[in-house]
Amino acid sequence: MIDPFGRTIKYLRVSVTDRCDFRCEYCMSENMTFLPKSEVLSLEELDRLCTAFINKGVDKLRITGGEPLVRRDIMSLLRNLSRHLKTGALQELTLTTNGSQLTRFADELVDIGVKRINVSLDTLDADQFARITRWGRLDQVLDGIEAAKKAGLQVKINTVAMRGVNDNEANDLVEWCAEHGHDLTFIETMPLGEIDGDRAEVYLPLSILRAQLSQHYTLVDSDYATGGPARYVTVKETGQRIGFITPLTHNFCESCNRVRITCTGMLYMCLGQDDSADLRKALRADEDNTTLNAAIDEAIGRKPEGHDFVINRRQNAPAVSRHMSVTGG
Ligand code: SAM
Ligand code: SF4
Repeated sequence: MIDPFGRTIKYLRVSVTDRCDFRCEYCMSENMTFLPKSEVLSLEELDRLCTAFINKGVDKLRITGGEPLVRRDIMSLLRNLSRHLKTGALQELTLTTNGSQLTRFADELVDIGVKRINVSLDTLDADQFARITRWGRLDQVLDGIEAAKKAGLQVKINTVAMRGVNDNEANDLVEWCAEHGHDLTFIETMPLGEIDGDRAEVYLPLSILRAQLSQHYTLVDSDYATGGPARYVTVKETGQRIGFITPLTHNFCESCNRVRITCTGMLYMCLGQDDSADLRKALRADEDNTTLNAAIDEAIGRKPEGHDFVINRRQNAPAVSRHMSVTGG
């Protein structure tokens, strides 16, 4: 799949549920209305959809949400999809999780063929964790991360950087990740979906965080790249890699290799744009995927060049109305 700007699309992120056992402040409002189950694709439909993309050249698949590990029978979907790892069509099957269910699932994930996972962790302070996630418990997540490591999974920690919330913990997070052998990526808050608070209040440009880290560590620019929005440095003192995801800048659109699907089968060609394609309708139109394949090709043909994110005090409405839990980040 090659889009109008010559970019080859090889990476698919699929949100398998919009539901979650946490209510992170920057992601959701406290009282979320979730989709009726009838609108959500079945596990069989998700498999068909992912497989159609793999047949079109996708070789990296990330399962996300909402919280993917709270979807019932999610392991059966992952196990079925792992057949594409065995044939070599898929290079990587991975997921992004809040870590709450990892003690239960870590061993099975390894057995299925998952090698690396991303776990979101914004703070190492139990009270702060409870405040940010509203419903989460830090010890449960730390146990989950420990279980993942023991099972042999490589864990990358994703931390949303927030001014006045966790910016004072950046060094602690770096130390903790170095100690446990995890890579670490900081993410800027993105204006996606209505939340209860004001995002401009906590928005922290990562240039500031990076400058702050530089006072304690020697950060060496790295040419490591994944085709995604992260820029990487190596910390000279610890040898670990730290990523910075700055989605509000445009520095990554030109190498964008990814598209996203929601749990209702909407395909979003860009995280920062509203344009989409209804693949559920196409999926249900026939069984031999003729309509689906045509719909995918047509949608890739309108992948936009870049996004329109803005976060500032004048424009307070979200740039994109759907929540991150819909497209999964
Ligand atoms: N529940 C899983 C988790 O938390 O890792 C997967 C889905 S979550 C939507 C994916 C990532 O998006 C998490 O790392 C989360 O911190 C991040 N995220 C959610 N809302 C965001 C926002 N408005 N701006 C930046 N990152 C956000
Ligand atoms: Fe749930 Fe992840 Fe959103 Fe937090 S960031 S509310 S864990 S989907």
